[in-house]
Amino acid sequence: MVPDNKRLSGRVEGNIVSIEEKLLRTRFVVDSGNPHIVIDKKKCEGCIEKPCVYICPVRCYQKDADSISFSWENCVECGSCRIVCPEGSIDWKYPRGGYGVCYRYG
Ligand code: SF4
Ligand code: SF4
Repeated sequence: MVPDNKRLSGRVEGNIVSIEEKLLRTRFVVDSGNPHIVIDKKKCEGCIEKPCVYICPVRCYQKDADSISFSWENCVECGSCRIVCPEGSIDWKYPRGGYGVCYRYG
């Protein structure tokens, strides 16, 4: 039995499990054609710093010259992008029941 404090730190019996390794164990059920996050790119034009690109832990947002590209399929539903967006460009909701991220370790 692994103590809870070791699970939280990502250390299990001396091994360090990276974020990337944990994400590889995460399963996504993609609701094809029905994104749970929609970006209003018109509003993004006035956004200089583009904090969504830096806050997203799984790089759903990518900088493309002056604009951004976005893919929602690997979203881990943390909600950070919605909080940091200064322009209110992000229409964010949870995926429909049965879709989205499934965490293997809670
Ligand atoms: S933070 Fe908001 S406004 Fe800025 S680029 Fe990202 S989605 Fe667009
Ligand atoms: S909710 Fe989190 S994981 Fe999903 S796109 Fe926004 S920042 Fe990225």
